[in-house]
Amino acid sequence: MFSKVLIANRGEIALRIHRACREMGIETVAVHSTADARAMHVRLADESVCIGPPPARDSYLNIPAIMAAAEITGAEAIHPGYGFLSENAEFAEIVEEHGIAFIGPTAAHIRLMGDKVTAKQSVAELGIPVVPGSDGAVADLARARSEAARIGYPLLLKAAAGGGGRGMKVVHAEDELAGAFSTTRAEAGAAFGDDTVYMERYLERPRHIEIQVLGDGQGRVVHMGERDCSLQRRHQKILEESPSPALNADAREAIGARVAEALAKISYRGAGTVEFLYENGAFNFIEMNTRLQVEHPVTEAVTGIDLVRQQLRIAHSGAMDVVQEDISLDGHAIECRINAEHPWTHAPSPGRLTDYHPPGGLGVRVDSGLYAGYEVPPHYDSLIAKLVVQGRNRNECLMRLRRALEEFVIGPIASNIELHLALMNDAAFLDGDYHIHWLEDFIARTAPE
Ligand code: ADP
Repeated sequence: MFSKVLIANRGEIALRIHRACREMGIETVAVHSTADARAMHVRLADESVCIGPPPARDSYLNIPAIMAAAEITGAEAIHPGYGFLSENAEFAEIVEEHGIAFIGPTAAHIRLMGDKVTAKQSVAELGIPVVPGSDGAVADLARARSEAARIGYPLLLKAAAGGGGRGMKVVHAEDELAGAFSTTRAEAGAAFGDDTVYMERYLERPRHIEIQVLGDGQGRVVHMGERDCSLQRRHQKILEESPSPALNADAREAIGARVAEALAKISYRGAGTVEFLYENGAFNFIEMNTRLQVEHPVTEAVTGIDLVRQQLRIAHSGAMDVVQEDISLDGHAIECRINAEHPWTHAPSPGRLTDYHPPGGLGVRVDSGLYAGYEVPPHYDSLIAKLVVQGRNRNECLMRLRRALEEFVIGPIASNIELHLALMNDAAFLDGDYHIHWLEDFIARTAPE
């Protein structure tokens, strides 16, 4: 196994990766911006290197600084976490050119899936059903009109290089098309450096259901059940659960086997997630994430498999030690993303934390770098903790989750704990009866005046 791994990330995920390394006897190198000098991932790592000032482009996205940190410390592998450089094919290439293992897929697979247009075409050829839409990229307005006539309204214009819920525009009728087409292109060019756009049918009440996989890079791929991530605000996930209240064992097995078989054909390496919109019993592929995801702990909770440990084993020698026959989903797990933001207006709320008490007890996991006295910096994502609760069934899980949320103290900065608590009193949520647009309606009707 590697003797030293550099973690090119921050916050709860850096800590998460450190923990897996520590259990495996691997030394860790933390990198950090000047804003994160006192962060928990830096405190716990064996070594740490400051890689730049607070803005991410100068630190966590600064490839030369990260490579220098790896060389100076003699790290044998780099784990990119999620976000930042995790889906940057050029970074994966540079890491491997330096004789350092990249803990993730090959650069070619990152590139293939990073462009959503080529990703859709490729997975369709591999036998995965995709969401109906344009035949590839849409280069000009004439093409947009003819494709729109075929797809029908409402439709969604999407940036090929989009991510993080950005770069999407709903078009309700033909008279909106020309304006939406030019703004989506301009925004995509500005935000992602690539103005390629494509079109999809806009699904009105689907669920977001994604399949977790692990591949050994040598043609063996296992599937680990699904996560239901339909509770979203502005296309960003807020709460995830496994299994999905909407799937039965046969549907789960069928889609899982299909995904694993498709990715085995390309000898996919590492952890990956294949995302679908699920409506009227049909799965429609939207994209694949070629990395560990924020919500991976719900899968860990129901399968008992440490995904980061498997990532490390695969990157080292391709030797993942799980086989499909041994993977079963046991009980139910739910993750609440705890964000440093106002629960109803969602205004960011960085600042010093003086009161901090995480919940505990049976079936409760908190992944967070928070501690009393910590100052949440204003420069990064607002996710400050993940509360992951497990029960023998969904009801037990929900009762435990409500109790854990009640125990959770974060102050005086604002957090969205109150929003999660409100969900625990909603009949539709408790019944598992929701879809991707449901949470925004819930917030609109529940937020205090
Ligand atoms: P990103 O990479 O930005 O996360 P995705 O393609 O994964 O973008 O989509 C994110 C979310 O946007 C989905 O979970 C869903 O809520 C919404 N979405 C994407 N495509 C469609 C579609 N065709 N119809 C309706 N909603 C969609």
